This record gives sequence, structure tokens and C-alpha cells, in this order.
Amino acid sequence: MRPFIIPLLLRACDDGVVKRIYTAANLADAHLVRDLLQHAGIAVHIFNEYAMAALGDVPMGSSYPQIWISQLHQEQHARAVIADYEQRPAQTAIKNCLPCGETNPGEFELCWNCGEPLANTT
Ligand SMILES: [Zn+2]
Repeated sequence: MRPFIIPLLLRACDDGVVKRIYTAANLADAHLVRDLLQHAGIAVHIFNEYAMAALGDVPMGSSYPQIWISQLHQEQHARAVIADYEQRPAQTAIKNCLPCGETNPGEFELCWNCGEPLANTT
């Protein structure tokens, strides 16, 4: 067990959510970061989890999913987890289509442009 540092000088928030730690570009990103943080033992909440569906009615930027932590003493740990996440290469590598030369997202099996099967190597 890692030793807990009790934040004596910090008051607890009423709802237990004290600090925004991350603003995600999309919901998948938010869920990935939440899962990473929860896996690391950090208590998190997502705000705006369902606000993305309202895009168009809501000004851009105000509805991005946000990750908040509820334990301020976990902030440094959480930031380290997020920094590690952000430094990773994208999980979905780009695949180049050999016949036509178009780039495709890594999860594509067939080229969106010409329909040829994509090789698994770049
Ligand atoms: Zn192609």
C-alpha cells in the first residue's frame, strides 16, 4: 500500500468532487482516461458525459467530457497517469493503402478509398 498523505489544510467538498484533472476531446477519450485512473486506484467522476449528444445546441468547448477527481491527495498520481497516457503513441496506428496510397485509421480492415484489404503492417 502506498502511504496516504492526509490533506489537513483542504476542506472536503460537499459532493466529494474537488478538482478537474482532464478535459477529454471526446467520450471515448474520457472513458479511457477514467478507466486508467480507476485502475490506478483513483476515484474519478465524469462531467458532461452525455453532453456531447447536445453538440450543436451547446457552444463548443463547454460540453467536452471532463474528468474530476474526488481525492485531492491523488492529484499528483492522477496527473502522472494522464501524462503517461498522453505520451503514448496513438493506439490506432495509421495504415497506408498500398494500391492507392490513402491513409486509413488503424482499425480499418478495408481501404475507405479503394476498398482493397489493408495490410497489418504500415
Ligand atoms: Zn486504397
